[in-house]
Amino acid sequence: MISQRTLKDSITLTGVGLHSGKPVKLTLRPARADQGIVFVRSDLPGSLPIPAHYRHVTNTQLATSIGRGQVSISTIEHLMGALQGAGVDNVIVEVDGPEIPIMDGSAEPFFRAIEAVGLVPQRKARPYLALRRKVEIKVAEKWAVAEPSSSLEIHGSIDWDHPSIGYQEFHYIEGHTDFSEISRARTFGFLRDVEALKRMGLARGGSLENAVVLDDAQVLNPDGLRYSDEFARHKVLDALGDLKLAGLEIHAYFRLHRAGHDLHSQILAAIFRDPDNYEIIDSSVFEERRASGIRAALASRLAATVG
Ligand SMILES: [Zn+2]
Repeated sequence: MISQRTLKDSITLTGVGLHSGKPVKLTLRPARADQGIVFVRSDLPGSLPIPAHYRHVTNTQLATSIGRGQVSISTIEHLMGALQGAGVDNVIVEVDGPEIPIMDGSAEPFFRAIEAVGLVPQRKARPYLALRRKVEIKVAEKWAVAEPSSSLEIHGSIDWDHPSIGYQEFHYIEGHTDFSEISRARTFGFLRDVEALKRMGLARGGSLENAVVLDDAQVLNPDGLRYSDEFARHKVLDALGDLKLAGLEIHAYFRLHRAGHDLHSQILAAIFRDPDNYEIIDSSVFEERRASGIRAALASRLAATVG
């Protein structure tokens, strides 16, 4: 059985909000089995907790926001990516403002902090969503395709008419690709958009310290990129975080082209729209299936040798 996991102890991190530019305190606390990931606004006592679930997504414009009633929390995707990468099933996320701190624009600071405190197994099997058939969404030249697979796989590609970006792709396979391959990839934006956002009172906390910023010709950060394909790696990180809003582990192969937060949330909604698209299995069933798949493969190989 693969157990659900939570944090061994609480973690507190501080940073600035990308849009508010104000300091934000983030605390991650251990949670009960089957509780999932639950966000709480600690600055609004008595406000409803917000489960990290695609049904609670309220905005996907610049980042992924979730909300309930009047209460919302934005820019959850990099933290969600770190929780997925670390294998955390259950955690309470408390934040004293409307957005998760942007940190360095990647998932690395969250991931490091989770790794440092460690995880504990819980006495409940981890549930899995196994996709049973192909589900796809196409919006103009963007698309998201999900196909059945025995693990979570994401192939992310972008095609940007810019000398520093162009066509890039990155293929992540859970259990094979080390999460550190994508955890350090930072969010990116164009100087003209950042300036426009600042005029609208947004991105006040945005700087070269927490994003890759490009003008029409090049990357403006003095230290350049962390990877030549940092943009595609970040897209995969965003997808990993957004897909964790399924509320359970997904076994499917996602091919995402020019996708963003909107398409990630739409493909999840499309999967859940029809119960024939998937089945929910616990890890003992999934291990048995994997083992019987291996037995069947060995038997056919043996039959071939004997024959
Ligand atoms: Zn991002």
